[in-house]
Amino acid sequence: MPRTLVVTNDFPPCQGGRRPRLSRVPRGERRQRRHPAGGQRLGRRLTAVAPILPRRHERKRTPCPPPHTPLDFDPDALRARYRAERDRRIRPDGNRQYRRTTGEFGHFDEDPHAEPGFTREPLTDHVDVVVVGGGFGGLLTGARLRQAGVRGIRIIEKGADFGGTWYWNRYPGIHCDIESYVYMPLLEELGYVPKWKYAPGEEIREHAQAIARHFDLYRDACFRTQATELRWDEDESAWAVTTDRGDRMTARHVVVATGCSASPNSPASKASRPSRATCSTPAAGTTTTPAATRTAA
Ligand SMILES: Cc1cc2nc3c(=O)[nH]c(=O)nc-3n(C[C@H](O)[C@H](O)[C@H](O)COP(=O)(O)OP(=O)(O)OC[C@H]3O[C@@H](n4cnc5c(N)ncnc54)[C@H](O)[C@@H]3O)c2cc1C
Repeated sequence: MPRTLVVTNDFPPCQGGRRPRLSRVPRGERRQRRHPAGGQRLGRRLTAVAPILPRRHERKRTPCPPPHTPLDFDPDALRARYRAERDRRIRPDGNRQYRRTTGEFGHFDEDPHAEPGFTREPLTDHVDVVVVGGGFGGLLTGARLRQAGVRGIRIIEKGADFGGTWYWNRYPGIHCDIESYVYMPLLEELGYVPKWKYAPGEEIREHAQAIARHFDLYRDACFRTQATELRWDEDESAWAVTTDRGDRMTARHVVVATGCSASPNSPASKASRPSRATCSTPAAGTTTTPAATRTAA
């Protein structure tokens, strides 16, 4: 027996934005409503194939009121509070509030996680893609290029390993502040389930390295190397990439994934600048002050 669903208008006014109720109407009543006079004549076939709907002009359009979910907070007050907090943090001097860590604090620009004395021969070869930066931006680029079948990928990274932000920043208690399941990329591809809702920096850094292993990005990587110039060579139809290790490599494509927090900065004001006695690098096993945190250059 075919079933006919009828949209009825006899439901109570729309509540909480719910959709109109679909209900079943007994067959006899159905015929009567659709064909008060000719229901018998049209017979079973018509009622079986055509849903019995109120005629267009008979349908009542009940305006749907806004949902009546009671709020236990005042959204306007909350918005105002967030705006006030935001305004408190916006400073007219912007990035001028920082100064580069040179001179007395120049050691913050050194890599405390790498063994000193590293050297290698300069490279002069050609690759398909050079990616500058080994943080999540560079890793995702590398991973997706591998998935697309690109073989010659070289990631150039100042640090001695992958991880970017999570390579450089290792102060005690560092965790991500976005849920790990959302923040950490390529979890499905690696079959990895974060151990924490807000993962600690070490877990994130290890995940970054796992991505590099999974997608074979260590193969051509150049660590402890800073790209100093990217120049498009029209004659060669290639990028000429120069680094602080004397490399003069070329690439068909270049991707810049250098992030926005690649250099350490210290407060410009002398009053809030740390004294050397209160700061040390994480490698020394003691705490760092916010001045040692890498911030937007
Ligand atoms: C302490 C801290 C905590 C954070 N927590 C969160 C969080 O919880 N949630 C969130 O969403 N975001 C967070 N962020 C923002 C974080 O930076 C991004 O989420 C993300 O990691 C940025 O990735 P990226 O690859 O774009 O840049 P980065 O991770 O900064 O990587 C860029 C890399 O490029 C390298 N590089 C730069 N210039 C050169 C060059 N010329 N040659 C070679 N290498 C170069 C740098 O050494 C660096 O390793 C945090 C940032 C910081 C500093």
